[in-house]
Amino acid sequence: MAQDAPTVVEVRRSRRRTATVSAYRDGDRTIIAIPALFSHAQEQEWVAKMLARLEDKERRRHPSDDELLARARELSERYLEGRARPTSVRWSANQGRRWGSCTLVDGSIRISTRVQGMPSWVIDYVLLHELAHLLHSGHGPEFWRLLEGYPRTDRARGFLDGVSFVQDAAPAADGGSDPGAGHPVASLGDDTGRRAPAGASS
Ligand SMILES: [Zn+2]
Repeated sequence: MAQDAPTVVEVRRSRRRTATVSAYRDGDRTIIAIPALFSHAQEQEWVAKMLARLEDKERRRHPSDDELLARARELSERYLEGRARPTSVRWSANQGRRWGSCTLVDGSIRISTRVQGMPSWVIDYVLLHELAHLLHSGHGPEFWRLLEGYPRTDRARGFLDGVSFVQDAAPAADGGSDPGAGHPVASLGDDTGRRAPAGASS
C-alpha cells in the first residue's frame, strides 16, 4: 500500500470546467481539478469528497487477506457454482513471477503482492484462476471452460501479459531487491495465464 498518506493535495481551478470535478494521484501529489467558479466552501466540500472517493477506490485495489477470502468465496459462488472452496486466501510476497498459486491438499490460495493495486477486475480474475485450479490443476480446455463465465478473462490476461512484458523489459538490477522489477533468473512461462505445474499450481 504505497499511498497511505499522500503528501500534497493540489487544487487546480479550470475556467473550461463548468460542473465536472476530477481527481488523480501523480506520484506523491493528488491533483484535484475543479471549476474556476467554485466558491471556497464548494472547493472544500469537493476536495474532501474526491479524496474519500480516491481512497475508497484504492482500498478496493488493496483488499486485506480476509477480504480476499470473502471475495474468492463470492466469485466461486457466482462463476463456479460454489464448487471451489478455498480454506484460506492470502497475499504472498514470494510468488516469483507467478500471479498466484494454490495448494490442493489444503485448499489454500496465495496471491502475489504484485497484484496489489491492479484494477479489481484483474484481482478477481487472478482469484478466479486459482479457484479454478482447486478444481483442475492443468491449463487444458476443461480448465479454461471453468473461466468462460467470467466476462473479463481475456482482458485480464491481456492486462497481466502487458505487466509482465513491461517488467521483463525493465532494466534488471543484478540481485536487485525490488520486488516489482523483472526476475531474469526465473524460468519463462510461469505466469498465471500459462503455467501448468502439478499439485501446487499457479
Ligand atoms: Zn494457472
